[in-house]
Amino acid sequence: MFGLMQDRPLLISSLLTHAERYHPASEIVSVPCEGPVVRTDWAGIARRARQMAQALQRMGVKPGDRVATLAWNTHRHLELYYAVAGIGAVLHTVNPRLYPEQIDYILNHGGAEVLLFDLPFLPLVDAQMDKLPTLRHAVVMTDAAHMPAGRDDLVCYETVLAAEDGALVWPSFDERQASGLCYTSGTTGNPKGVLYSHRSTVLHAFLCCAADGLHLSRADATLLAVPLFHVNAWGIPYASAMCGAKLVLPGLKLDGQSLYDLARAEGCTLSLGVPTVWIGLFKYLDEAGIDPATLPFERVLIGGSAAPRALLRRFHEAGVHAFQAWGMSETSPVATVATLLPHQQALGLDGKLDVLTRQGRAMFGVELKIVGEDGQELPQDGSASGELKVRGPWVTSGYYGGVGGQVLDADGWFATGDVARIDTEGFVTLTDRAKDVIKSGGEWISSIDLENAALGHPAVEAAAVIGVYHEKWQERPLMLVVRKRDTAPEPAEIRAVLEDKVAHWWLPDAIVFVDSLPLTATGKLDKKAMRAVWKDYLATA
Ligand code: AMP
Repeated sequence: MFGLMQDRPLLISSLLTHAERYHPASEIVSVPCEGPVVRTDWAGIARRARQMAQALQRMGVKPGDRVATLAWNTHRHLELYYAVAGIGAVLHTVNPRLYPEQIDYILNHGGAEVLLFDLPFLPLVDAQMDKLPTLRHAVVMTDAAHMPAGRDDLVCYETVLAAEDGALVWPSFDERQASGLCYTSGTTGNPKGVLYSHRSTVLHAFLCCAADGLHLSRADATLLAVPLFHVNAWGIPYASAMCGAKLVLPGLKLDGQSLYDLARAEGCTLSLGVPTVWIGLFKYLDEAGIDPATLPFERVLIGGSAAPRALLRRFHEAGVHAFQAWGMSETSPVATVATLLPHQQALGLDGKLDVLTRQGRAMFGVELKIVGEDGQELPQDGSASGELKVRGPWVTSGYYGGVGGQVLDADGWFATGDVARIDTEGFVTLTDRAKDVIKSGGEWISSIDLENAALGHPAVEAAAVIGVYHEKWQERPLMLVVRKRDTAPEPAEIRAVLEDKVAHWWLPDAIVFVDSLPLTATGKLDKKAMRAVWKDYLATA
């Protein structure tokens, strides 16, 4: 017998309708690429999203069509999150930091007929235009005053928006319809598209607002330091509408000074971003002689790669509760969140950091397990380590266009490619990406643990550990270190710090100083690029 409750679809447009009705004056602050700061609110975003939806329909966009963006964090990009999905089309956010060939591939594979982009990407778009056979409209996300002269082939965002009256009623449709498309930074082969649905997106938003999820609420003013093209900005644009939180969109400027100034000016209580963003923030504070205690944040979510212990410590010493979450494009992305359990609340800072350096526990809806190389499930005892598998209503069931074939096992589990331990309380500790794992004489060495230990040395600005070829052990760890300005530690000093923290046989065979470390388009350490350069270092050193 079925229950007798209403089967109302979970649609993205309902988030915006709710924000407009119940949180109309909750602010949205945006720094467009061509400046000055724009101040609007959820009522303004809702009105303009309806106008933009009408403009897109006028351009011929129909349900299921892809609409692509190459854009930073601005109010216009936020409007598109709702305008596109609201009419049943699919928002395809493209990462502009990728190589042009990858952007070309991703845009073509997504097959968008409309591309909207920020002004600084005009040269990039011009170089792509004739390679995109499906493209019919190229829209510059700016006003008439900033439109490039003599370009009749381009459409002005503000002009087409202003031509509409906003009298649109969001259509209703099946909640399983596609709403967004995001390509994962392909590690092997071409990038693959993850296709989100209205249902997965709204369910994920609920959990972002849950107290033991990201605890987002109306009381928050969130500085979005994760780009809107990086896995739906971790779901925050949707969750913020659900709870009516103030949202601060920093445009293209994610450097330490810009983030600090904006956070202070707007009284931001929460921010989210990858570790490199926060390392940049502290570097700025240190160099400018600013006391980190002046940071206005109550909470900072660090994700995308492992949050170094030293970084978490700096935030906590400044009175900011920094914590991490784990997830991936394929999991919408948030799957686990590190929240202190009641018995951990009373721990001292070191004890708390022991918990917060882990990737956290599954949010409701997410199931996790680890498996060994033979595919057999391993115990969640805090010591067994294996590939992490995940299952849940906001986890992908396959890639766009069937690329990669069947990605789930017979029981519906998705293999993440991450290697982890899970303890008896359910805390996940990620030790590596499967492809980055260092296997020395058949035993695994955790690069994350080594990097974390190195960052405990006060002169280490950044550290990366990769496995490189070794005659006897097949592979041994090599550590690359960027030193802080005006410091000159010796390798032996860094080694001494590591000796206290990890097993002796884990110690890197060499510690090499470099000026910088290569990063991926989402700001993570690019170990593939490092391995390409350093793979024979031990053989030839
Ligand atoms: P992406 O699909 O670009 O978001 O990348 C997802 C990958 O980022 C995951 O599979 C992990 O390897 C890594 N990742 C995300 N969050 C964390 C975290 N908190 N700690 C360590 N690695 C993470």
